[in-house]
Amino acid sequence: MYTYCLECEWQATTVASETDAVASESAIEHFVETGHTVESVRLPPPAVILES
Ligand SMILES: [Zn+2]
Repeated sequence: MYTYCLECEWQATTVASETDAVASESAIEHFVETGHTVESVRLPPPAVILES
């Protein structure tokens, strides 16, 4: 999950060891602190790298 702010440079990306809830929580925190609109994008699964 990639979470970013529409109004400033804030962003958060969850890594494999984190859950989506972590990104959601920090997004809510940013909204509460700043009143900014935060967008979330669910990243596609990692692409399989094919040997050519
Ligand atoms: Zn912001």
